[in-house]
Amino acid sequence: MNTDRKALWAVRQSGLPAVVRPCPDCSGTRHRPTGRIRVNANGKLLDVWLLLGCEGCDRTSKVPVHERVHVSSLDPVRREAYENDDPAVVRGLAMSASLAARNRYRLDWTGTWQLETRTPLYSLDDPTPLGVRVSFELPAPVRVERLLMLGLRLSRAEVRRMASDGHIHLPVALALDAKAHQDFEFTLDRPGVPDTTVHLQLTNTRSDLSHIRSHDTPPRLHRTATARA
Ligand SMILES: [Zn+2]
Repeated sequence: MNTDRKALWAVRQSGLPAVVRPCPDCSGTRHRPTGRIRVNANGKLLDVWLLLGCEGCDRTSKVPVHERVHVSSLDPVRREAYENDDPAVVRGLAMSASLAARNRYRLDWTGTWQLETRTPLYSLDDPTPLGVRVSFELPAPVRVERLLMLGLRLSRAEVRRMASDGHIHLPVALALDAKAHQDFEFTLDRPGVPDTTVHLQLTNTRSDLSHIRSHDTPPRLHRTATARA
Protein backbone atom coordinates (compact mmCIF):
# COMPACT_ATOMS: atom_id res chain seq x y z
CA MET A 1 0.00 0.00 0.00
CA ASN A 2 1.42 3.32 -1.06
CA THR A 3 0.49 5.82 1.66
CA ASP A 4 2.35 8.58 -0.20
CA ARG A 5 -0.67 8.75 -2.44
CA LYS A 6 -2.75 10.52 0.15
CA ALA A 7 -2.88 14.30 0.36
CA LEU A 8 -3.26 15.78 3.85
CA TRP A 9 -5.11 19.03 4.30
CA ALA A 10 -5.45 20.64 7.70
CA VAL A 11 -7.77 23.41 8.82
CA ARG A 12 -5.48 25.15 11.30
CA GLN A 13 -6.52 27.58 13.99
CA SER A 14 -5.39 31.16 13.46
CA GLY A 15 -7.69 32.82 15.98
CA LEU A 16 -10.65 32.40 18.31
CA PRO A 17 -14.21 33.03 17.10
CA ALA A 18 -15.87 36.30 18.03
CA VAL A 19 -18.84 36.20 20.39
CA VAL A 20 -21.66 38.14 18.72
CA ARG A 21 -24.16 39.78 21.06
CA PRO A 22 -25.23 43.38 21.70
CA CYS A 23 -22.95 45.53 23.86
CA PRO A 24 -24.87 47.65 26.41
CA ASP A 25 -22.35 50.50 26.11
CA CYS A 26 -21.84 50.90 22.36
CA SER A 27 -23.35 49.88 19.04
CA GLY A 28 -20.80 47.06 18.65
CA THR A 29 -21.72 43.39 18.76
CA ARG A 30 -18.38 41.60 18.50
CA HIS A 31 -16.57 40.42 21.63
CA ARG A 32 -13.25 38.64 22.14
CA PRO A 33 -12.19 36.44 25.05
CA THR A 34 -9.83 38.41 27.28
CA GLY A 35 -8.00 35.22 28.18
CA ARG A 36 -9.31 35.42 31.72
CA ILE A 37 -11.81 33.39 33.73
CA ARG A 38 -13.33 34.65 36.96
CA VAL A 39 -14.11 32.28 39.82
CA ASN A 40 -16.18 33.52 42.75
CA ALA A 41 -16.63 31.45 45.89
CA ASN A 42 -19.57 32.09 48.18
CA GLY A 43 -19.30 29.56 50.99
CA LYS A 44 -19.45 26.18 49.28
CA LEU A 45 -21.00 27.62 46.11
CA LEU A 46 -18.99 28.64 43.06
CA ASP A 47 -19.66 30.91 40.12
CA VAL A 48 -17.42 30.72 37.08
CA TRP A 49 -17.48 33.21 34.21
CA LEU A 50 -15.60 33.56 30.94
CA LEU A 51 -14.56 37.20 30.52
CA LEU A 52 -15.05 38.95 27.18
CA GLY A 53 -13.98 42.34 25.87
CA CYS A 54 -16.12 44.36 23.43
CA GLU A 55 -14.19 45.06 20.21
CA GLY A 56 -15.87 48.47 19.96
CA CYS A 57 -15.42 49.97 23.43
CA ASP A 58 -13.36 47.42 25.38
CA ARG A 59 -16.14 46.96 27.92
CA THR A 60 -15.64 43.72 29.84
CA SER A 61 -18.60 41.39 30.10
CA LYS A 62 -19.13 37.96 31.60
CA VAL A 63 -20.47 34.70 30.24
CA PRO A 64 -21.70 32.34 32.99
CA VAL A 65 -19.97 28.96 32.74
CA HIS A 66 -21.11 27.58 36.12
CA GLU A 67 -23.66 29.24 38.37
CA ARG A 68 -24.00 28.41 42.04
CA VAL A 69 -22.44 24.98 41.73
CA HIS A 70 -21.37 23.16 44.87
CA VAL A 71 -17.61 23.08 45.22
CA SER A 72 -17.66 19.29 45.51
CA SER A 73 -19.37 18.91 42.14
CA LEU A 74 -16.53 20.60 40.26
CA ASP A 75 -13.47 18.54 39.33
CA PRO A 76 -10.53 20.04 41.34
CA VAL A 77 -8.27 19.96 38.27
CA ARG A 78 -10.91 21.83 36.30
CA ARG A 79 -11.32 24.37 39.10
CA GLU A 80 -7.58 24.97 39.22
CA ALA A 81 -7.54 25.44 35.44
CA TYR A 82 -10.30 28.08 35.81
CA GLU A 83 -8.39 29.83 38.58
CA ASN A 84 -5.20 29.88 36.50
CA ASP A 85 -6.88 31.14 33.30
CA ASP A 86 -5.67 27.99 31.58
CA PRO A 87 -5.37 28.94 27.86
CA ALA A 88 -6.66 25.54 26.69
CA VAL A 89 -9.75 25.91 28.88
CA VAL A 90 -10.31 29.50 27.68
CA ARG A 91 -10.00 28.24 24.09
CA GLY A 92 -12.47 25.42 24.73
CA LEU A 93 -15.02 27.75 26.31
CA ALA A 94 -14.59 30.38 23.58
CA MET A 95 -15.34 27.77 20.89
CA SER A 96 -18.11 25.97 22.76
CA ALA A 97 -21.33 25.72 20.76
CA SER A 98 -23.23 24.55 23.85
CA LEU A 99 -22.05 27.54 25.92
CA ALA A 100 -23.09 29.82 23.04
CA ALA A 101 -26.52 28.18 22.83
CA ARG A 102 -27.02 28.32 26.58
CA ASN A 103 -26.17 32.02 26.70
CA ARG A 104 -27.94 32.86 23.42
CA TYR A 105 -25.08 34.31 21.43
CA ARG A 106 -23.65 33.51 18.02
CA LEU A 107 -20.05 32.59 17.21
CA ASP A 108 -18.44 34.28 14.20
CA TRP A 109 -15.67 32.06 12.82
CA THR A 110 -14.46 34.53 10.18
CA GLY A 111 -10.66 34.71 10.10
CA THR A 112 -10.21 31.92 12.66
CA TRP A 113 -8.60 29.35 10.38
CA GLN A 114 -6.26 28.78 7.48
CA LEU A 115 -5.85 25.80 5.24
CA GLU A 116 -2.54 23.98 5.15
CA THR A 117 -2.14 21.53 2.26
CA ARG A 118 0.36 18.75 1.88
CA THR A 119 0.07 17.05 -1.49
CA PRO A 120 2.32 14.14 -2.46
CA LEU A 121 4.38 14.05 -5.62
CA TYR A 122 2.70 12.07 -8.35
CA SER A 123 2.72 11.80 -12.08
CA LEU A 124 0.10 13.93 -13.78
CA ASP A 125 -0.92 11.11 -16.11
CA ASP A 126 -1.22 8.63 -13.25
CA PRO A 127 -4.77 7.26 -13.48
CA THR A 128 -4.85 6.25 -9.80
CA PRO A 129 -7.31 8.36 -7.77
CA LEU A 130 -5.80 10.64 -5.14
CA GLY A 131 -7.27 10.46 -1.64
CA VAL A 132 -7.40 13.68 0.36
CA ARG A 133 -7.77 13.61 4.13
CA VAL A 134 -9.06 16.86 5.63
CA SER A 135 -8.52 17.32 9.35
CA PHE A 136 -9.90 20.07 11.57
CA GLU A 137 -7.86 21.57 14.41
CA LEU A 138 -10.90 23.60 15.47
CA PRO A 139 -14.64 23.09 14.87
CA ALA A 140 -14.93 26.06 12.47
CA PRO A 141 -17.79 25.49 10.02
CA VAL A 142 -16.20 25.66 6.56
CA ARG A 143 -18.14 25.37 3.30
CA VAL A 144 -16.86 22.31 1.41
CA GLU A 145 -16.78 24.22 -1.88
CA ARG A 146 -14.56 26.90 -0.30
CA LEU A 147 -12.18 24.27 1.08
CA LEU A 148 -11.84 22.74 -2.38
CA MET A 149 -11.29 26.17 -3.98
CA LEU A 150 -8.51 26.96 -1.52
CA GLY A 151 -6.94 23.51 -1.49
CA LEU A 152 -6.96 23.00 -5.25
CA ARG A 153 -6.55 26.71 -6.03
CA LEU A 154 -9.43 26.62 -8.43
CA SER A 155 -12.33 28.97 -9.04
CA ARG A 156 -15.81 28.16 -7.81
CA ALA A 157 -16.87 27.33 -11.38
CA GLU A 158 -13.93 24.98 -11.85
CA VAL A 159 -14.65 23.15 -8.59
CA ARG A 160 -18.31 22.78 -9.55
CA ARG A 161 -17.37 21.48 -12.98
CA MET A 162 -14.98 18.91 -11.51
CA ALA A 163 -17.70 17.76 -9.10
CA SER A 164 -20.38 17.53 -11.77
CA ASP A 165 -17.98 15.69 -14.12
CA GLY A 166 -17.42 13.13 -11.38
CA HIS A 167 -13.77 13.97 -10.69
CA ILE A 168 -14.40 14.89 -7.04
CA HIS A 169 -15.95 12.18 -4.88
CA LEU A 170 -17.26 13.61 -1.61
CA PRO A 171 -18.70 11.58 1.27
CA VAL A 172 -22.42 10.97 0.73
CA ALA A 173 -23.38 13.22 3.66
CA LEU A 174 -21.36 16.18 2.35
CA ALA A 175 -22.64 18.28 -0.53
CA LEU A 176 -20.50 21.02 -2.11
CA ASP A 177 -22.55 23.70 -0.38
CA ALA A 178 -22.59 21.92 3.00
CA LYS A 179 -20.48 23.14 5.90
CA ALA A 180 -17.95 20.72 7.34
CA HIS A 181 -16.49 21.17 10.81
CA GLN A 182 -14.90 17.80 11.41
CA ASP A 183 -12.50 15.44 9.65
CA PHE A 184 -13.51 13.85 6.36
CA GLU A 185 -11.95 12.31 3.30
CA PHE A 186 -12.65 12.68 -0.38
CA THR A 187 -11.15 11.41 -3.61
CA LEU A 188 -9.90 13.21 -6.69
CA ASP A 189 -10.42 10.88 -9.61
CA ARG A 190 -7.75 11.08 -12.30
CA PRO A 191 -6.81 14.51 -10.95
CA GLY A 192 -4.30 15.20 -13.73
CA VAL A 193 -6.61 14.32 -16.58
CA PRO A 194 -9.72 16.55 -16.63
CA ASP A 195 -8.19 19.65 -18.19
CA THR A 196 -4.99 21.64 -18.39
CA THR A 197 -6.09 24.09 -15.71
CA VAL A 198 -6.22 21.34 -13.14
CA HIS A 199 -2.83 20.03 -14.32
CA LEU A 200 -1.27 23.37 -13.56
CA GLN A 201 -2.95 23.85 -10.23
CA LEU A 202 -2.09 20.43 -8.89
CA THR A 203 1.50 20.92 -10.02
CA ASN A 204 1.59 24.09 -7.99
CA THR A 205 0.37 22.38 -4.86
CA ARG A 206 3.25 19.93 -5.04
CA SER A 207 5.29 22.09 -2.70
CA ASP A 208 5.83 20.35 0.59
CA LEU A 209 3.75 22.75 2.56
CA SER A 210 1.70 25.73 1.61
CA HIS A 211 -0.30 28.00 3.83
CA ILE A 212 -3.42 29.61 2.52
CA ARG A 213 -5.17 32.07 4.75
CA SER A 214 -8.92 31.65 4.90
CA HIS A 215 -9.64 35.24 3.91
CA ASP A 216 -7.07 35.49 1.10
CA THR A 217 -8.08 35.13 -2.48
CA PRO A 218 -5.36 33.48 -4.53
CA PRO A 219 -4.34 35.93 -7.30
CA ARG A 220 -4.93 33.40 -10.04
CA LEU A 221 -8.33 32.54 -8.70
CA HIS A 222 -9.25 36.20 -8.80
CA ARG A 223 -8.12 36.51 -12.42
CA THR A 224 -10.06 33.43 -13.42
CA ALA A 225 -13.20 34.61 -11.69
CA THR A 226 -12.94 38.01 -13.35
CA ALA A 227 -12.20 36.59 -16.77
CA ARG A 228 -15.23 34.33 -16.64
CA ALA A 229 -17.61 36.72 -14.95
ZN1 LIG B 1 -19.01 47.99 23.37
